[in-house]
Amino acid sequence: MTDSIDHWELREKIIELCLWMNSSGLNQGTSGNISARYKKSMLITPSGIPYEQLKPTDICKMSLKHNRLEWSGPHKPSSEWHFHRAILQSNAEYGAVVHTHSTYATALSMAGTRIPACHYMIAAFGGHTVRCSKYATFGTPELSKNILKAMRNRSACLMSNHGMVVAGSDLDKAMWGAVELETLSKQYYLASSLNSIDILSKDEIRRVVAKFQNYGPKSKAQTTNIVGAQQVDSVQNNAQSASTSQPSATKKSPNIKLPVSKR
Ligand code: 13P
Ligand code: ZN
Repeated sequence: MTDSIDHWELREKIIELCLWMNSSGLNQGTSGNISARYKKSMLITPSGIPYEQLKPTDICKMSLKHNRLEWSGPHKPSSEWHFHRAILQSNAEYGAVVHTHSTYATALSMAGTRIPACHYMIAAFGGHTVRCSKYATFGTPELSKNILKAMRNRSACLMSNHGMVVAGSDLDKAMWGAVELETLSKQYYLASSLNSIDILSKDEIRRVVAKFQNYGPKSKAQTTNIVGAQQVDSVQNNAQSASTSQPSATKKSPNIKLPVSKR
């Protein structure tokens, strides 16, 4: 957890990721912002300062215990401090939040469309859709409220006519999620010009969500537990499948036009 990391390390990591998200093409200019949990506080990028100019002392520190605009640091915090703080307050497991105006996620957000289960990677965000939050002016508590609603049981959402936001257990995980969400947005956007898209069933996405708990490098001891966990998953899923007898992929055709206003 980010709690064990020194706050100077976190400040440096925030700047490193801001620079990376722009140099990689994921974001541009002073759009976007990044925050990280530090004990009972949030460290967040200041508003409107080019990332190349940022020094660790420029990162703002705000309390997570209240909702007032109070901070320590030489500059005003990101205008999006409302939703960064609300997301970190909403779930103790979240250690960081990344907001970008990445091209494909933003393009989908302009159509106000949610992303359906067009690829199994959607499960990385906790369910069978990534929703699109209702539009509200940037930097407002209303935008924060809309985002929180769209992120119910999800770690990410698109933001209408604006961009995307992703939460993760730490800064690297949140940025990983932002890259995956932009990739998924691009894939969905491109596939939308085909005659049809196969949409995976809710059951299949539930299976993948469970599998993701155990994905990636694990020690032998962890793997023993995983085998047990997977057996439980498969028993539960078999029971579910038997009761619903749903195929794992449902063909929805045609799905050429991006649906508008399906938030
Ligand atoms: P800040 O520079 O205030 O963080 O704003 C950028 C942004 O993306 C607003 O939504
Ligand atoms: Zn923004």
